[in-house]
Amino acid sequence: MYQPSSDQAAPPAVYRSAVAAPPATTALQDGRHVAAAVIGGGFTGMSAALHLAEAGVEVAVLETKSVGWGASGRAFGQVVPYLKRDHDAILRCYGVERGQRVVDAVAEGPSLVFDLIQRHGIDCWPIRTGLIFAAHSPAGERALAARTGYWQRRGAPVELLENQACAGLIGSRRYAIASLDRRGGHLNPYAYVCGLAQAAITAGAAVVAPMAVDALRRQGTRWVLEAGRQRLTADAVVLATNAYVGDLLPGVRDSIIPMRGHGFVTEPLSDNVRGSILPGQQSLTDTRQLFSAVRLLPDGRLHASTYGPAFGPEHSPDWRQADSRVRRLFPQLGAPGWSEAWSGWVAMTPDHFPRLHELAPGLYAGLGYNGRGIAAATMMGRDLAALVKSGADAATAFPVVPLRPLPWRGAAPLLIRALVQAYRLHDLYHEHRPARRRDNSRPAAASPNS
Ligand SMILES: Cc1cc2nc3c(=O)[nH]c(=O)nc-3n(C[C@H](O)[C@H](O)[C@H](O)COP(=O)(O)OP(=O)(O)OC[C@H]3O[C@@H](n4cnc5c(N)ncnc54)[C@H](O)[C@@H]3O)c2cc1C
Repeated sequence: MYQPSSDQAAPPAVYRSAVAAPPATTALQDGRHVAAAVIGGGFTGMSAALHLAEAGVEVAVLETKSVGWGASGRAFGQVVPYLKRDHDAILRCYGVERGQRVVDAVAEGPSLVFDLIQRHGIDCWPIRTGLIFAAHSPAGERALAARTGYWQRRGAPVELLENQACAGLIGSRRYAIASLDRRGGHLNPYAYVCGLAQAAITAGAAVVAPMAVDALRRQGTRWVLEAGRQRLTADAVVLATNAYVGDLLPGVRDSIIPMRGHGFVTEPLSDNVRGSILPGQQSLTDTRQLFSAVRLLPDGRLHASTYGPAFGPEHSPDWRQADSRVRRLFPQLGAPGWSEAWSGWVAMTPDHFPRLHELAPGLYAGLGYNGRGIAAATMMGRDLAALVKSGADAATAFPVVPLRPLPWRGAAPLLIRALVQAYRLHDLYHEHRPARRRDNSRPAAASPNS
């Protein structure tokens, strides 16, 4: 069965440099019993632990490597008030009433994240001046206009910027239209997850790392977690392993498709160039099918997230691809010096919606954020804590859904490689046709590529 490979270096040094001391982990006391055990030390697990500990629940987190080792310590950093798919798709999937609750809760996701950061004094480069979504094609323009209109009618601080205003916002004439959503922002994800962990520890949680849970079984009314030669028992268990689940629960493993995401940073840019790129400090992404985003880090490095090999072992970084992408966007960069690259595993689901499961009495799982996990996983952790405390009656943001292993998952790398290639060609085709300008009295924007 297809598994993500485990050949991962530590989370990126550029992120780790912001964390003076990693969270204070403890050793596992063999035979200890806790009310709740959390498996996995990323956003989901740490948010669950923090919400449980703050509610007075005795909780222990077990993490194979170290806090933030998985995708959480490697994410690009955008805190997004949307899921991968728009509000109308959510309503179609969950029905009007339940779907609307999901849409509204997800829109509040960034506030949950930035409030936690403020309340716990988490030093993680939080910037909340908004997120820019630029249209790379006429279809992208229509999608952004529809989404912006929906949120404007609901009174959200979202606006559509065109031509000069758009170019000024981005520092590039590559796009004619962009949506600026002031609810979102960005941060250092490794520092954020470490801060969540420290806040959970301060509230009374134990974080045990490195400690891999090898087996999980029910014994009477309790769960037994086996980790090497040690055991922990718990009344309830939260599975927060996302794409890194491995063989612990094969049904969960087979319900998602792990795909690699890639990150790249340059050396700090000169003050001149830095000042001309994203002057409002927002992070930028566009409407292409393949995930890509750009932002400036506080020390003036340009951070780009672009696609690369989606499966298989860690490859040497595709510097050329990252380089040509950012230089097309910002020709003023010249030839930037690249300093670090990394990758991590994202958990995809076929419908692009996250999953909240009750797998057995007292065994809960939250996963499948499709690359939108900073806000969504923090929310999911809160949902999982609510389920542990109140059971099935808890009011959760995400609906509890049955586990559905994918019968074709073994062929996923093949199918998705073909899909990624198709997306790449689709995106390239549109990329050479810069989005038209709305104001026909002005000359068309010069594309750095045209
Ligand atoms: C390159 C990249 C860019 C991304 N960019 C963004 C972005 O800009 N915005 C956004 O919202 N999302 C982004 N994401 C997605 C986001 O990072 C994830 O959705 C999120 O981190 C998932 O958090 P998690 O806690 O569920 O899982 P993870 O952070 O993956 O944590 C799971 C943890 O479980 C541990 N584990 C696994 N098995 C066991 C076991 N048996 N015992 C103990 N521990 C175990 C692993 O070691 C791991 O640390 C990005 C992801 C990647 C890879």
